Amino acid sequence: MVITAHPDDAEFTVAGTVARWAREGQEVIYVICTDGSRGSNDPKIEPAALAVIRKAEQDAAARVLGVKEVVYLGYEDGTLEPALALRRDLTRAIRRYRPDVVVCSDPTMRFYGDGYLNHPDHRAAGDAALDAVFPSAGTRHIFPELLAEGLEPHDVKEVYVHGHPTPNHWIDISDTIECKIAALEQHKSQVGGWDDLAEGIRAWAQEAGAGQGMAYAESYKRIVLG
Ligand SMILES: [Zn+2]
Repeated sequence: MVITAHPDDAEFTVAGTVARWAREGQEVIYVICTDGSRGSNDPKIEPAALAVIRKAEQDAAARVLGVKEVVYLGYEDGTLEPALALRRDLTRAIRRYRPDVVVCSDPTMRFYGDGYLNHPDHRAAGDAALDAVFPSAGTRHIFPELLAEGLEPHDVKEVYVHGHPTPNHWIDISDTIECKIAALEQHKSQVGGWDDLAEGIRAWAQEAGAGQGMAYAESYKRIVLG
């Protein structure tokens, strides 16, 4: 299960891993927290209309990667908070789909390099995802309303946190990097006209794989829950 803030986040970050796992026969579920409706500064584009476009783009990207299902939580883009309502919704998704692995962003990352402030929605989604994995998903009497929905506790086995400054696990995406790029290109409202997109993604994955004997990689802090 891949939990992200926005449509396109998974394609930018973990889609090579997603495509690889799907090819290996794993079932991959996406959970997208926000509607992506604020992802344009064009005054002619209405947020509600953009949300429809971005859902279609995310569905198309998921099809390219072999993702089995995309769950949209529909929170408003740009103002996501790691509040109990979001934690409950993510706990519900984990108990319903019962994933072995949850993939999410690093909620502790405020800065990347000297030129990028991490989007607060990314931090909020990662924070709520980790709190949903533990303790909410596996603890019977947290969110008793989920028990009333018939959702029994579920223990996630592993967490893969992307965007962590000191990763401890690398996934070789040499066979799926082109699939990742093709999926990312489905997000036309976000990356349309971005000339060096493919080169940028390849360079990023090359950097991640350097020193690991991998041509292209995605890196994670992997936590194996005992
Ligand atoms: Zn994003």
